[in-house]
Amino acid sequence: MTTAAGEPDRPEFPAPARGSLIVVSGPSGVGKDAVLAPLFSAETCPPRLRRCITATTRAPRPGEIDGVDYFFLARDEFERRIGEHFFLEHASYAGRFYGTPRWWVEAEVAGGNDVLLKIDVQGALQVRSLAPAAVLVFIAPPSEEELERRLRGRDSGADPGDLMRRLAIAREELALARRYDYLVVNDRIERAVGDLRAIVIAERCRIRKEQAAEQGSSQPF
Ligand code: 5GP
Repeated sequence: MTTAAGEPDRPEFPAPARGSLIVVSGPSGVGKDAVLAPLFSAETCPPRLRRCITATTRAPRPGEIDGVDYFFLARDEFERRIGEHFFLEHASYAGRFYGTPRWWVEAEVAGGNDVLLKIDVQGALQVRSLAPAAVLVFIAPPSEEELERRLRGRDSGADPGDLMRRLAIAREELALARRYDYLVVNDRIERAVGDLRAIVIAERCRIRKEQAAEQGSSQPF
């Protein structure tokens, strides 16, 4: 087997029984997408890493595509799915709903793939309590001032109220970073991508998690 970059894939012995659930959070505007896009490029993507597309009730930003960036749902449809336990976790962020499709995550992890979830801090902490083996990675800005600059630059036409809400949430999220397993500072994109890739690979090489799975852990992940 070869990777997308044409290199021989790593030998799969002993084959990991289940993949890891890797949760990436960080304040709005920190550059999560700017780090994740190169991580998932053909040359860089660790073998067996898959990105989960989540659902939201917010409107698409210019250039965002339904089914690629998010599944964009109407609020009543989202609420119906909450009632059907469709989501592994869901949260309200800046007045909009966001949620992770449970079935997709469970199928990928059970099939031995690593799943990367890009979700907010509330969602990450819900995942941690449901799946203690989940790996939580926090992407932080080099400073609060730099975060504000990036947020203002991202969407100059955005409602100023939305910007202020996102900054207030960012302060709360930064205070919760210590509950994560890893911290990646996004001062330079290439360095942040390298750090995140190293974490994904280290988790794939981890032995202890495999022992827990072999001992018949009843955790879903
Ligand atoms: P944005 O509106 O900027 O795309 O996302 C706002 C926040 O919602 C970001 O922190 C993003 O990571 C988070 N988010 C995206 N999808 C989900 C999800 O399924 N669940 C949770 N809890 N947060 C999400």
